[in-house]
Amino acid sequence: MIELDRLTKRYGTTVAVDQLTCTVQPGVVTGFLGPNGAGKSTTMRMMLGLDRPTAGDVRIDGEHYDRLRDPLNHIGALLEAKAVHPGRTAYNHLTVLAQSNGIPQKRVPEVLDLVGLGSVAKKRPKGFSLGMGQRLGIASALLGDPKILMFDEPVNGLDPEGIHWIRNLMKYLASEGKTVFVSSHLMSEMALTAEHLIVIGRGRLLADTSMREFIKENSRSYVRLRTPEPERMRDVLATAGLTPVATEDGALEVDSVESDRLGELAAEHGLVLHELSPQQASLEEAFMQLTAEAVQYHAHGTGKGA
Ligand code: ADP
Repeated sequence: MIELDRLTKRYGTTVAVDQLTCTVQPGVVTGFLGPNGAGKSTTMRMMLGLDRPTAGDVRIDGEHYDRLRDPLNHIGALLEAKAVHPGRTAYNHLTVLAQSNGIPQKRVPEVLDLVGLGSVAKKRPKGFSLGMGQRLGIASALLGDPKILMFDEPVNGLDPEGIHWIRNLMKYLASEGKTVFVSSHLMSEMALTAEHLIVIGRGRLLADTSMREFIKENSRSYVRLRTPEPERMRDVLATAGLTPVATEDGALEVDSVESDRLGELAAEHGLVLHELSPQQASLEEAFMQLTAEAVQYHAHGTGKGA
């Protein structure tokens, strides 16, 4: 579990993280979202003791990071791929890490197999693809078998197979009861991976809720229908107090109504339907709606994660 209590970080006059209070729970993948410059990286750095809070507190399983006796046994993090010694083999890189952190040597081949690097364990990372570097970073994070795992933009630069693999790994770790905290700017990917969301904007908490609730609360849901008699359908809907919107392809979109009700209305009036489909908004739409006011650099769009 990761607990944030009014966590705050200022850089001069910039408030990067502003009184953030929330808890990242075990057993689910929690997505960490926010526009560029929202304060995600700063928050993650403070969680790992790499940055000191200006005010407030962050606790890892009830302790401050720098008071954990063997940090790698509590929290593993993938912050940036390629943060490995380029001349050292994957096996040696992990061995050094294990030795300096009191982790048994037998974990090294275990995690190499877990991330699918068993066959290249004795090769030097400088010949690694980005995906292999990412897998090695994940192996390092898993080495101490920590209960908490943090991934900052883990799928950046990966091919579809690598993305699929990381997604399943994160879900597997959560199903094992671990706390999995992941940031990504790829909304479609996040929608497939995370069950819970923490969203920040300008350093402040904007949402701390399930993926399902987040999408429901922050987007328009509607039903799309097509009929060969759109004019008559409009009249029927108007009588029922509903105002459809016509689309370019000749369909009608109706807000604030269940598809069941529309189907029944059509049947009552002998109207043929060629399509009746409830439209679920995407995470991206919900995110854009919620963060529209909080977007700090939307005119630039060139920063990290743009
Ligand atoms: P995100 O990861 O969500 O893109 P960051 O945590 O990187 O956001 O940045 C949050 C804010 O803090 C931004 O305005 C950024 O410019 C500022 N910031 C981050 N790190 C530093 C730093 N070392 N010095 C000064 N300002 C910083």
